[in-house]
Amino acid sequence: MTISNRPMTRFALRVALPVLIVVVIAVVAGFLIVRDMADQVDRAETTSIERAVRAAVNSNLTRLRETHGDYAVWDEAVQKLYGAVDQTFVDGSYRDSTRLGVLFDRVYLLENDGRTVFGYQRGQPAMRSAAEEFGPRLDVLVRSALADPKPFDGQAGLLLDSTGQITAVVVGTVEPSTEALERPLQPRLLVIARPIDAAAVRRMGSEFVIDDLRLVRNPPTAGASVELTDPGGQALGWMTWRPSSQGLEAFRRVAPTAYLTMGLICLTMLFLLGIGYSNFVALREREQEARRSANHDGLTGLPNRAALGRRLAEAVEMHDETGAPVALVYLDLDGFKEVNDANGHEAGDVLLRRVAHGFATICDGVGFLARVGGDEFAVILDRRDTVDRAEAIGEQLIRFFDEPVDVDGRLVTVGTSVGIAVLQNETIRARELLRRADVAMYLAKEFGRNRVALYDPSIDAARAERARLAEDLREALRLDQLVVVYQPIFDAASMRPSGVEALVRWLHPVHGLVPPDVFVPIAEESGLIEQVGGLVVRTACRDALAWGDIRLSVNVSPAQLRNPAFDIVLSRLIAEAGFPAERFEIEMTETHLVSHPERAQAIIARLRGIGVTIALDDFGTGYSSIAYLRRFTFDKLKLDRSLVVGITSDLSARRLCEATVALGRALDLQVTAEGVETEFEAAVLRKAGCDQLQGYAFARPMTADAVGDYLRAAALRPLAAPSTG
Ligand code: C2E
Ligand code: CA
Ligand code: CA
Repeated sequence: MTISNRPMTRFALRVALPVLIVVVIAVVAGFLIVRDMADQVDRAETTSIERAVRAAVNSNLTRLRETHGDYAVWDEAVQKLYGAVDQTFVDGSYRDSTRLGVLFDRVYLLENDGRTVFGYQRGQPAMRSAAEEFGPRLDVLVRSALADPKPFDGQAGLLLDSTGQITAVVVGTVEPSTEALERPLQPRLLVIARPIDAAAVRRMGSEFVIDDLRLVRNPPTAGASVELTDPGGQALGWMTWRPSSQGLEAFRRVAPTAYLTMGLICLTMLFLLGIGYSNFVALREREQEARRSANHDGLTGLPNRAALGRRLAEAVEMHDETGAPVALVYLDLDGFKEVNDANGHEAGDVLLRRVAHGFATICDGVGFLARVGGDEFAVILDRRDTVDRAEAIGEQLIRFFDEPVDVDGRLVTVGTSVGIAVLQNETIRARELLRRADVAMYLAKEFGRNRVALYDPSIDAARAERARLAEDLREALRLDQLVVVYQPIFDAASMRPSGVEALVRWLHPVHGLVPPDVFVPIAEESGLIEQVGGLVVRTACRDALAWGDIRLSVNVSPAQLRNPAFDIVLSRLIAEAGFPAERFEIEMTETHLVSHPERAQAIIARLRGIGVTIALDDFGTGYSSIAYLRRFTFDKLKLDRSLVVGITSDLSARRLCEATVALGRALDLQVTAEGVETEFEAAVLRKAGCDQLQGYAFARPMTADAVGDYLRAAALRPLAAPSTG
């Protein structure tokens, strides 16, 4: 759940939400813009209608003003309206015009002080004077007409008449229309008026194409209107009309399409978000997978070396902060390479998976298990209780291999060596802890595998010493500091020297004489053994050529036998020295035979093929199993000194020695006893049936020159006179 939920919210927050916000903003903005455009259209329309309304009202007044011009700027009118008015003229020209009210329905003649001379309304004499009919505002028009008398230009305005009706009124002086008459000094004023009634408003509406134009007396509460004022600026009424809603209508028409489009956009957006989400999830999964494979080993699924390094660094940091101890358990499989070689890499992989599974079960809840690489594993323990049990946990890992492991139906036997390094009250890097555990593991192997070894600083000291010695040995080989000494081997019956064993020595300028037990292992470790071995064979062959018909025995270490071309190397060395192969003998120990029986068998067969004989050295110390003696075809057994010690004092030791000699003879092998220190021992061994004797009792290892002299002297001695050393 947590894996699928988190990316969901993350996706929602990072992608879906912003996209939705943008879409919503875009939709709302689009809606508002279209809506605003519709409003703009309607507003523009309203302004133009307003202009039309004003034009209509003005045109009404203009027409009345033109009419006024026709009636007031007229020579005949000047003659008949000044002084005593000519009633017949007045009736025919003015009073009759008001009867139908087509051009105007009221007419007045005023003195220039405003007094009414006459007045007619719809053909009848007016009941009221002009001032009474139109109120005091009329004065404004009268005064401006007098102030600025221009022909054909009466002062027009709107006024309320006595009935409260809005009326268009024009006031102007009566003037001559030609040059024939003088302009009167005391001008009289003609007033004509026509109501702005419903019919007039309708006419204006149809003339200026304004929908439903009306005149109202109370200010309209909503919608557009044009105010009508009297000359004093007083509001008289309002022209209203049906407002245009073209924009809104257009908006309403396009709205469904717009909504549909927005819906489609939203759906598309949702669809794209869906695709985006699935891509996002796939990407996250790939990312997680990549992270996993960066930290895990593909074969076993365990954390890998990198993960171990990080985890270990954390543990070490924790130790530095809180003092909590850390133990690192390091192990690799013994015999894994053989399984791989013998059964193929697939079998090796299956084995590793099995082992990883087993280890994981053991380490579950105990520590952090990782596969460090190849057949190496490591466990980090960082709790006090587990650190205390580190060795026990190591033992547990070793015991996993008590039973052979089933690899696809085949049972394979492997083991493990465990090294442990503990970090407590010390400041070191994780890398150093790793190195220490590794060193401890190699120590465990040296001790004989299937063991747990704890790191100890003295290991490092010993290692450093060995490293130094290895360097010195390299130098010694270059400076020819290695010498070969020879210890004679005697025929047990005649006590004449039948051969010599070559034994290498190192004359170290500082340490003095370094025994082979010390430096041969170092030569094996540092890869110098082939050089050392070659030197011994070359020197010994060259020296022994001068000593007549005796055998030459040379010790060969397991590391040399591991070289598959050892037989070729050896035969060439012997041939180069010109030493007869049939007098050359190899002494080998069991070590190599036990760990690599097949290969040992092959190399022994090839060595016998080149004509040399083979002695099994140190017999009686290791496995010494009869099975081995039968399986490998040796020529000779060399009884180890441990079998000889005590034969003169301890009966059981003597019996064991006798039985071992009998065993060798039964297998048709020559038997040599080494380490013979007394005549007494020699007597017992001779009686037991040994073929050869070797030891301080007869001769110690000597230099080439010394052994040469010794052999020559011995050849001159009479038979059956054993030396007493
Ligand atoms: P090894 O093959 O068992 O050699 C016999 C060892 O016993 C020699 O020690 C020899 O000096 C010693 N020894 C002989 N007689 C007596 C005796 O009566 N009493 C006692 N206590 N010791 C006696 P060394 O020369 O120190 O050699 C030790 C081991 O070093 C040899 O044991 C052999 O395994 C190895 N070694 C010596 N030379 C070579 C060599 O050239 N190549 C290889 N690979 N190993 C060598
Ligand atoms: Ca030997
Ligand atoms: Ca030996």
